[in-house]
Amino acid sequence: MSESPNNTNVNFWRRLPLWQKILLGLLLGVLAGALMGEKASMFKPLGDIFISAIKMLIVPLVFSTLVVGITAMRDPQKMGRIGARTIALYLITTAFAIAIGLLASLIFKPGVGLNLTFDSAVEAQQAPSLVQIIVDLVPQNPIDALASGNILQIIVFAIGLGVSLMLIGEKGEPVVRVFESFAEAMYKLTSIVMAFAPFGVFGLIAFVAGNYGLEVLLPLAKVIGVAYLASVVQVLVVYSGLLATLGRLNPVRYLQGSLNALIVAYSTASSSGTLPVSLRCAQRNLGVSEGVSGFVLPVGATINMDGTAIYQGVVAVFIAQLIGFELSMMDYGMIILTGTLASIGTAGVPGAGLIMLSIVLTQIGLPLEALAVVAGVDRILDMARTSVNVAGDLMVTVLVGKSEGELDENIYNTKNVKQTN
Ligand code: ASP
Repeated sequence: MSESPNNTNVNFWRRLPLWQKILLGLLLGVLAGALMGEKASMFKPLGDIFISAIKMLIVPLVFSTLVVGITAMRDPQKMGRIGARTIALYLITTAFAIAIGLLASLIFKPGVGLNLTFDSAVEAQQAPSLVQIIVDLVPQNPIDALASGNILQIIVFAIGLGVSLMLIGEKGEPVVRVFESFAEAMYKLTSIVMAFAPFGVFGLIAFVAGNYGLEVLLPLAKVIGVAYLASVVQVLVVYSGLLATLGRLNPVRYLQGSLNALIVAYSTASSSGTLPVSLRCAQRNLGVSEGVSGFVLPVGATINMDGTAIYQGVVAVFIAQLIGFELSMMDYGMIILTGTLASIGTAGVPGAGLIMLSIVLTQIGLPLEALAVVAGVDRILDMARTSVNVAGDLMVTVLVGKSEGELDENIYNTKNVKQTN
């Protein structure tokens, strides 16, 4: 009996690996946006449902994975070592990012010769003080932290709980088993939500492509191009270089294994929202243990924002060029310092980096009104910086996993991305 065309279509779809389906969703989304213009907004609800569904996973997934990961380590000293390595690597990659952003803008001068006017005023933000960041880490009420989705506070509570469970040994076993089983269920739920990712990505990209026509993009094409170029350099040169030299690992596998997370980051512009997908990529495609990925990724999704740091560097110099403001060595130092702090304080949600940019501009005395110029295309810039933010987290996760002997190199080196279900 011959198959009906409908069946053939369904089978074709089923056999495609997930990353190909998501990529297809992305390309069809661009096409729909280009053909339909603003009418493509009709597909946005698909994207909204997808974003809500992955956000739904964040708190229970991060919490349970972290508790399970910590109890699995069975060694508080190891925890401390992993923490120190993670923070050091995050700071190093952010330093590279800001330097690349600054250099790219200095070389390509995207703001020179442009004649753009500023309209609306934007309110300045305060750089978060280091002491305040540290004080805010400790939740007064863990249930409140869980309910409001405060990831850093959730991490602190989960570490406390995990270490305590580890210390009480056998008495903690029943609770550990509950968390293990709960975490398993959350992984399953993630894979169910991910089956919807191609449609969600399609809806999100159709909306963006439809609403940012060429007439919006063209005047700022150069600064967008420079930010994208710097982002590509960060991923292909810095991350790949660190993986190859420090980790002695093939960077191509890292890129393949991270692809799903990168596309979801690109289309949602939220690194916190992408966290469930990043965790899945780290464990299933890149072979990082639950313990390491469950700790390094949630921390990264809140404090490691290399893409945002690149963007701060590129746009600060761009605005200075735009208004003919001569930046001194002091100013560059200031951009690096405040840009790093601002990127750490940036929430992993769409548009957060634009608001934090006001810190950098205020510090060097650039007019905040200039933010309005880039605000119009912020989503396009945001998509790139979020992908870099996520790529950086995944790279550090792989390196920390490797250094702790918690990277399964058989999985890492497997050619096919096995995320089909
Ligand atoms: N949207 C970015 C993220 O979620 C943050 C930013 O706006 O820079 O990682």
